[in-house]
Amino acid sequence: MRAKRAADSVRLLREVFGYEAFRPGQSEIIDAVMAGDDVLAVMPTGAGKSLCFQIPALLAPGLTVVISPLIALMRDQVSQLRANGVAAAALNSVNSPAEDREITAALRARAVKLVYVAPERLVRPDTQNLLREAGAWLMAIDEAHCVSQWGHDFRPEYRTLPDLREACGIGQTLAVTATADAPTRNDIARLLLSDDHKCFLHSFDRPNLRLAMAQRRAGNAQLLARLARHKGQSGIVYAASRRSVDDLAAELRAAGYQALSYHAGMDKALRSEHQDMFLREDGIVMVATVAFGMGIDKPDVRFVLHANLPSSIEAYYQEIGRAGRDGLPADTLTLYSAGDMQLRRRQIAEADSDEARKRIDHRKLDALIALCETPRCRRQTLLAAFGEAAEPCGNCDVCAGAFTLVDGSLIARKAMSAIVRTQGRFSPPHLTKLLKGQMTEAMTRHGHDLLPTFGVGRDLSEEEWRSVFTQLHAAGLVRHDADDRDRLVLSGSGKAVLKGELPVQFRSTALQGKLRRRAAPMAEDGETSPMPDAIDLTSDGQRLSVRQSGLLNALKARRAELARTQRVPAFVIFHDRTLIDMAIRAPRTETDFAQVHGVGAAKCVQFAAIFIAVIKQASPD
Ligand code: ADP
Ligand code: ZN
Repeated sequence: MRAKRAADSVRLLREVFGYEAFRPGQSEIIDAVMAGDDVLAVMPTGAGKSLCFQIPALLAPGLTVVISPLIALMRDQVSQLRANGVAAAALNSVNSPAEDREITAALRARAVKLVYVAPERLVRPDTQNLLREAGAWLMAIDEAHCVSQWGHDFRPEYRTLPDLREACGIGQTLAVTATADAPTRNDIARLLLSDDHKCFLHSFDRPNLRLAMAQRRAGNAQLLARLARHKGQSGIVYAASRRSVDDLAAELRAAGYQALSYHAGMDKALRSEHQDMFLREDGIVMVATVAFGMGIDKPDVRFVLHANLPSSIEAYYQEIGRAGRDGLPADTLTLYSAGDMQLRRRQIAEADSDEARKRIDHRKLDALIALCETPRCRRQTLLAAFGEAAEPCGNCDVCAGAFTLVDGSLIARKAMSAIVRTQGRFSPPHLTKLLKGQMTEAMTRHGHDLLPTFGVGRDLSEEEWRSVFTQLHAAGLVRHDADDRDRLVLSGSGKAVLKGELPVQFRSTALQGKLRRRAAPMAEDGETSPMPDAIDLTSDGQRLSVRQSGLLNALKARRAELARTQRVPAFVIFHDRTLIDMAIRAPRTETDFAQVHGVGAAKCVQFAAIFIAVIKQASPD
């Protein structure tokens, strides 16, 4: 039974979606759903969560109801499914009465396999009766973290989904999300799923994303330099305020980019027009506040840049995660300044929240600053923040050698000895005073002026010691005790460094004084090593020949025409990845065309002749 199901899933994957194999995690999740379990699937953006409910929807008799918070997202998923020949529909407030009638009739006739529904619509008894009549069996909840107050996208209506599910006669739930942290995960399980649900946690690594962070200098030269690598590609630039969004968008337009703006202060109609253009057309740079992006599942966003420090590591990860959903190389660069950090610190301190919450927020900010100033692989540091171990990645600025690293073993030993001799009970500002030998009331009260560590660190400034403690964190040498979050402890490798068994390197640029003078001077502006132009690369980093790139451009031009006449986003016709594979294989028969990545049966019928004509025209043999 199980083997037959697996074979059927793979057949659907190939025939309907044109993909050759499941991505990690997908088949296990599909299997658990088909076995009748409630399932929680936590996977990073772009990992392929949608297929985890789309394949079961096609395998099982009956109707799958997909709950999605955003109408734009629904619309694009439905167009993509229909382009693949799947009977899919959406029930939401933007449907015309005629559309609604048509969808209702199809649902009654049990001719629909997947229906996307907004939570507001599901509240209506007529919708519930309709879904019951249509044989609904599975509720797939997209962006399931919206049920939790922990996350930043809390939607109270998500709390009512279990009741609504029952009202529709649905017995089973699949919740999917890209939000990693444990409290959110627990909320989803508690509020939406049965006690004996199965949970699938996927690695959060997105190896195709290039990671880079750098200190911001005055003006926008760093952003412009980065953008110059991405001429003609689609991407997002996040800026902190409405004003800076407008200014930056204007500056980019003046520099010849097709840049649009997006923020909550804009007229609603204009805002959604900009969003539509970004989705539909190639090569638009969206300059936006973080109001933009939730539910944008455009697969070919090639870069995400931040003009300012994001609000947390989770937010950073979610924002950069909008790049490269198609698995092709994508670029990110985050700029930050000491001013950004102080502003965040002040906002937390002045916020109207209790002390416990403030402590959590300060600690989250510490982790974010550690990621900015990390001396070790950026991805290792990021994944460690999600509790995942990893090797140095080779695809980040630190790995690429953007920062001068200097031996920091002695300094690290001094700092760690200060931590150990004070039982991990004191914060970096106090430890800094201890190291610098400053007499304070607290110093004498705790007898810290009598410790051998007192005054051994006079040669570094306060700011340098701050950076040392941050880097000790980022390098995974010092952490908060798991049982007593207010206590600092040394990790295994931290102990080895203290004993002198393991050397440690620090970023010299964060150490303004002594160390820096010793090291070669270097501008800290992200890596300068050449990065290949993403669009000419296959997923394994292979470069296209001149002839293949020429063909790729011709294929893209044809796709753009088709998208315009059919009034759908270009990626609904074919993803970039499909066109790249097409340019490499250059199929001349329908049989060969069907082999191209992302070409399923329906698209083969619809598009083979059209694209084969482009191929033959490009190289008439
Ligand atoms: P998520 O919802 O997890 O962010 P999506 O479901 O939108 O991700 O999938 C991201 C992209 O990967 C989509 O373009 C999808 O078509 C593609 N994809 C999903 N599964 C596979 C697979 N097994 N093989 C190839 N491409 C896939
Ligand atoms: Zn790295």
